[in-house]
Order: sequence, then structure tokens, then C-alpha cells
Amino acid sequence: MTIYRDKNGNMWQGDNIKDKGNFVSSSSELSEEAIEASLPALSEQMSGLKEAMVLWKRDGLKLTTREERKRRWEICLSCPALTPKGRCTKCGCYMRLKTKLAGQICPLDKW
Ligand code: SF4
Repeated sequence: MTIYRDKNGNMWQGDNIKDKGNFVSSSSELSEEAIEASLPALSEQMSGLKEAMVLWKRDGLKLTTREERKRRWEICLSCPALTPKGRCTKCGCYMRLKTKLAGQICPLDKW
């Protein structure tokens, strides 16, 4: 199950963003349970975190520039995979943090 966000901030639950599926709520009303259910399994989140740390270390544990951080964050903000609390439903990461770390990749190759 995936929860998508349309350009108006409304949340939809379904298999495909084109179909939209069932209306869940406006972004401000989305429950913690619905957000949790849209995230990858905990084991996948752990493996994603490990991969992110390996990539960060490989890139010298550097932080991104302010411009790069802003560029990444703006892409995430327009992405339906971002939850209202700033987590990516594709990797489970907290994007406010991940956008600051050098060497990271978007699981959908958007940045
Ligand atoms: S990391 Fe990629 S998939 Fe995840 S919210 Fe950002 S743009 Fe979307």
C-alpha cells in the first residue's frame, strides 16, 4: 500500500498514483497509523539507513551546500512520496536530514 499526495496536499491510498485510489485525508489530517503503514518495512528502513551511512562515509562524511540541500528538499516537497512529517515512503528516511548528507541518492532518482 502506498499513500500519495496530490498537488493540493490531499492524501490518497492505492497501488498507482494515476488511479489515485481511496481518499485518505488532507495532509494535515493524516493519522500517524496511516503514515506508518505507508513506510517500508522496518528491516528495509534499517537496510536503507545502513546504505545511506555507507554512502555518506564514502563521501567523506561531508554535508551538502545550502543550495544543494534546498534543491533536494524542494524536489522532495513536490514528490507524492513525502509524508507530511517529512519522511520518504520509498526509503523511510527523514528527508530534512538526508538532504543534508553528501553522497545520498533519491530512491526514485529524482535528485
Ligand atoms: S527522496 Fe526521492 S522519492 Fe523520497 S520524497 Fe524525496 S524525491 Fe520523493
